[in-house]
Amino acid sequence: MKNINFQRTVEIRDNVDVFVAGGGPAGVASAVAAARNGAKVFLAEKSQCFGGMGTIAKVPAFMRFSDGVNFLAGGIGGGNIGHVFGVDGTDERSITAGIIDARRRMPEYQRYYNEYLPGYEKAKIIATADILGIRETRRIVCEYNMTLEDYFKQADFEDEIGRYCYPVDIHASAPDEISKYPDIYENGYEKGKSYGIPFRSLLPKKTENIIVAGRCIGAEREMMGSVRVMPACYITGQAAGTAAAMSELSGTGLRELDIHDLQHKLVKEGAFLPNFQA
Ligand SMILES: Cc1cc2nc3c(=O)[nH]c(=O)nc-3n(C[C@H](O)[C@H](O)[C@H](O)COP(=O)(O)OP(=O)(O)OC[C@H]3O[C@@H](n4cnc5c(N)ncnc54)[C@H](O)[C@@H]3O)c2cc1C
Repeated sequence: MKNINFQRTVEIRDNVDVFVAGGGPAGVASAVAAARNGAKVFLAEKSQCFGGMGTIAKVPAFMRFSDGVNFLAGGIGGGNIGHVFGVDGTDERSITAGIIDARRRMPEYQRYYNEYLPGYEKAKIIATADILGIRETRRIVCEYNMTLEDYFKQADFEDEIGRYCYPVDIHASAPDEISKYPDIYENGYEKGKSYGIPFRSLLPKKTENIIVAGRCIGAEREMMGSVRVMPACYITGQAAGTAAAMSELSGTGLRELDIHDLQHKLVKEGAFLPNFQA
């Protein structure tokens, strides 16, 4: 394949303390948290609304906000009917083929609902999402990449910025692929149990001055199957925005931030950090 190099000089239009790229649950939480902590924030969103997958891909439901006992996404936040298989989310032709396939199958779903589900006899499709919702593609390598082991042992971290509990939920990418880890998904944690999310998982390796949240955090595929759902994005988004504001306003690098200070701010703003001692 032939390549071309592409380079562009971009005009600086605004001077802000914290620039947030993307207004999904993680980006919105980051922007709100950074602004609450005194930073001047710019939130850039390429679509016509905030919400990310929840709005533009019409993702149907927020997964768990609580572990059955504690409210985990305390600071901010308050009929998926089928899969399109075999889509490569890094390839625009594959995505196009996927969305054509999905739309073509919509009438079939409507017929199924009308004929087989009591109460849906007159149901009609009134809208489909603007984009194909894709759960995962590339992942960023961070200072710490969360692992399946962390899920099993309900890991605690000295630098944890929140805790979460949703089971590992990996969806089949082909019809004949059995969904992975059905036992973990079905059994999940007991009430009140959760795992910690370390601050280091928000810091991409080899970059300065960039912090990530939501489904960009450092986690291997299995662990991402738990930590990518929307309430967890609020948790990591709030932490990222708070840390970015602290870093910028104090002139301290993200890696040099006082974790205790960050945790203290997060707790004051409603985060669930049971291991934190004031
Ligand atoms: C099919 C599907 C079903 C799911 N079901 C559930 C569910 O039932 N419950 C649940 O809790 N979670 C569910 N999830 C997971 C959840 O929706 C996502 O993991 C979550 O939305 C990730 O949040 P985020 O903020 O990290 O990213 P996103 O929600 O992807 O938001 C990223 C935002 O950045 C914007 N953006 C991207 N590039 C640019 C750019 N260059 N410039 C400006 N803006 C940009 C996008 O437009 C988007 O608004 C599902 C996901 C999918 C795909």
